[in-house]
Amino acid sequence: MRNDFLYELVGSMSTGAAGNPTVAMMEAAFAHHHLPWRYVNMEVLPSDLGDAVAGARAMGFRGFNCSMPHKQSVIAHLDGLTRSAELSGAVNCVMRHDDGRLIGTNTDGMGFLRALREVRDPSGTNVVVLGAGGAARAVAVELALAAAAKITVVNRTLAAAQDLAAMISRSTATDGAATQLVDGYRVPEGTDIVVNATSVGLYDREAVASIDLNSIASEHVAADVVFNPADTALLRAARRAGARTVDGLGMLVHQGAEAVRLWTGIEPDLTLMHRTLRAAMGV
Ligand code: NDP
Repeated sequence: MRNDFLYELVGSMSTGAAGNPTVAMMEAAFAHHHLPWRYVNMEVLPSDLGDAVAGARAMGFRGFNCSMPHKQSVIAHLDGLTRSAELSGAVNCVMRHDDGRLIGTNTDGMGFLRALREVRDPSGTNVVVLGAGGAARAVAVELALAAAAKITVVNRTLAAAQDLAAMISRSTATDGAATQLVDGYRVPEGTDIVVNATSVGLYDREAVASIDLNSIASEHVAADVVFNPADTALLRAARRAGARTVDGLGMLVHQGAEAVRLWTGIEPDLTLMHRTLRAAMGV
């Protein structure tokens, strides 16, 4: 029988789904590669998450992304986790295996790593990660799995930095250290890569986490997870200092591309995804 009207389903579950611009780039990738797949943007309230996952199972979804506020709570509804998800304690991408099990992974960190590798391999480097929330955990875990030598977690709330640094030292071969983020924080000597993984800069072109921008120098790579705006004040200052930069938009494209790879097995056209995402965001 012909199968023209039955699609393979994936999508995104979040609360506040309406503004999700990634839908456009995922649908564009499927169309471009002639895949009979659809990416459905789903508004799911926290209290309905269990039913939503059961529904996705029943309807044969091949997988789905989880965004805020489901990245941690979805774990209780899954059948297993990859090491990245286990260590970061968060899932943003679920894959349905052939035996029907739903396995959670974290492509936020993988997306960051792919974007970073276009500029620098983190193996053996000293990294400063500003922030200790969900994005920081995903980024730090992936940097550790990619053999960064040392990760210093710098956060406004010291306890959260200490918790993440201790997990890195305990569970990976990377040395984890914690420092409090205070006004005028200077990037320490010997740092190779500085990552803003706080939410500072989101929707504010001028905001910078409490860091002395004069301490960013040409030998550094500066990265920002904030994707709106993509050209943050931190990255502009880093460029002025002659440093190489990695923006959050690249990370967002790469995490979507990673999901396409995991779900469909194809290598998606990154340029097309990037262009479509920019158009959807109007940037
Ligand atoms: P969380 O709420 O989990 O963490 C926020 C972090 O930012 C915490 O470390 C918090 O510190 C810190 N922070 C917030 N406000 C300030 C401030 N005024 N000064 C200093 N530090 C501050 O958020 P997420 O980790 O989920 O998201 C962080 C950012 O990452 C968001 O902008 C999000 O859009 C982006 N993101 C980008 C992705 C991409 O693909 N590009 C993917 C996922 C997220 P404290 O602990 O002290 O509160």
